[in-house]
Amino acid sequence: MSLVLHGIGVSRGIAIGKAHIIVRGSIEVLESVIPSSLIEDEVARFLNAIETARLQLSSIRNRIPTGTHPDISAFIDTHILMLDDATIVKTPVDTIREQACNAEWALKQQRDAVVEVFEQMDDPYLRTRRDDVDHVINRIQRILLSSSQGEIRSEDSLQGCVVLTDNLTPAETVLLEHQGASAFATEYGGPLSHSAILARSVQLPAIVGAHGLQRYLHDGDDIILDGMQGILIADPGQEIIDHYRERKTQETQRQAELARLAQIPAVSLDNHAIRLMTNIELPEDIEALNRENTSGIGLYRTEFLFMNRPSRPDEEEQYHSYTQVIDVLNGKPLTIRTLDIGADKEVEDNGNRGSNPALGLRAIRLCLKDHSLFCPQLRAILRASAHGPVRLMIPMLSNTRELHQVLTLIREAKNALQREELAFDPNIQVGGMIEVPAAAISAAYFARHLDFLSIGTNDLIQYTLAIDRVNDEVTYLYDPLHPSVLQLIKMVIDAGKAAGIPVAMCGEMAGDARYTRLLLGMGLTEFSMHHTAIQEVKRVINSSSVTELAPRVTALLQIDNAERIVDEIESLNSSMN
Ligand code: PEP
Ligand code: MG
Repeated sequence: MSLVLHGIGVSRGIAIGKAHIIVRGSIEVLESVIPSSLIEDEVARFLNAIETARLQLSSIRNRIPTGTHPDISAFIDTHILMLDDATIVKTPVDTIREQACNAEWALKQQRDAVVEVFEQMDDPYLRTRRDDVDHVINRIQRILLSSSQGEIRSEDSLQGCVVLTDNLTPAETVLLEHQGASAFATEYGGPLSHSAILARSVQLPAIVGAHGLQRYLHDGDDIILDGMQGILIADPGQEIIDHYRERKTQETQRQAELARLAQIPAVSLDNHAIRLMTNIELPEDIEALNRENTSGIGLYRTEFLFMNRPSRPDEEEQYHSYTQVIDVLNGKPLTIRTLDIGADKEVEDNGNRGSNPALGLRAIRLCLKDHSLFCPQLRAILRASAHGPVRLMIPMLSNTRELHQVLTLIREAKNALQREELAFDPNIQVGGMIEVPAAAISAAYFARHLDFLSIGTNDLIQYTLAIDRVNDEVTYLYDPLHPSVLQLIKMVIDAGKAAGIPVAMCGEMAGDARYTRLLLGMGLTEFSMHHTAIQEVKRVINSSSVTELAPRVTALLQIDNAERIVDEIESLNSSMN
């Protein structure tokens, strides 16, 4: 009889193969006392283990074929660099000397201390970086314990296998790929873990968080893994296998089509050119940009430069970060959003949380209160604009007073730069994000005073429907198709058109291909999204006629019943294919 297990699909694709289970269990470390005469030998044993770990990782890295996606070597490099980090090397050495204990015990204590710090972090990305610490420390522990239990060895052949295990390091993910595994599933890990990111980069179907897989599945079981739905099926019947074979063929065709699409522009059937842009959070995110062939960056979330550090980056550091991105963009525009600190994006020294941070002193409100935070960023953005096309974008505007205050500060910053004879683009485009319902309703006013608008649907939906976007108790109410959300989006697009300025959308809705036709029909011409969504959205655009969609969407916007709106959108999406 078939058995079905569910997890989180993190890399789409279907694999059909035999299960290869890697059993590991936790590494057991015991404390022992080292006689004082042998303490330096113990330190040397520990440092040797670090060097062996470095050799192992370098050897994996050296076997990565040239032309492989740079993410892969970058992840391994991160682990190699961690072997130089004082937290991993120096502190355990001190502990061995101070406590006269064995190296394994010293390392375990340090691991527990570091992991505890990571566990307290709210940011899901950083919490998954805890995995990096574990991966590197486990490797050193195995070397110290001379244990190869659960190790993936480079000589193992995994050809066509679906690998099932507790968790994977980036280095192991590389080995799986090299050794021909067709997919993997892990008990633990999240969608932001490095192995999940790697799996997507190398297009290896993968599921994480499939609890119980090591208990219920066995080596050699016939397995189907669906990386999109996050489903693992053991011992499927012939009918199920046939169904998934068919879906696998369709998926292969889809991948080939998306790869082909990267070479062509986004143009609708009736010749409307659409700008597809990328959202980034850190300068290093731009690597994918050239691969996906986008029209530039539609949202650079600069607050990430301020996170996980004790002090703020100064004007100079920000200026260098921005110019680094501009250099790679080769003349394509860069939309730099000023700091959107607060609510779900906290930084170390922001003490202004309040009891309701999403409605509190965040984003532009915080910047206008704290000029020592805002003005260096304005200067850095202006100076960066001398190096290439830069657009400055203001988040979370809710009233016109804020807008005029920002415009005044920009004017003052320009005057100061001129006096200091520092270069900047005097005609830099200044735009505003429309993410508060009040701003959407007054979009016409904002449009008259700005060079462009960009709709931030993540917050616009949160504030319109009064649901905390990070509270999973109310995610069921988070509805991009709520009639009021659609009305607000339409008002913003129309206001931009009337004022003759471009309107973009940079919230998640822009990268969800289910809504592409709806948005095209509303008149949206600029979409900004995570780079992985671009070709899928382009596929929809290139098979749509804006002229045909417009009257259908106008009629759809008259509907006040959410279910009927969903039906209409399904009908829009299924026609014209
Ligand atoms: C948005 O709110 O839609 C948006 C793009 O901004 P962020 O997700 O960074 O709040
Ligand atoms: Mg926002």
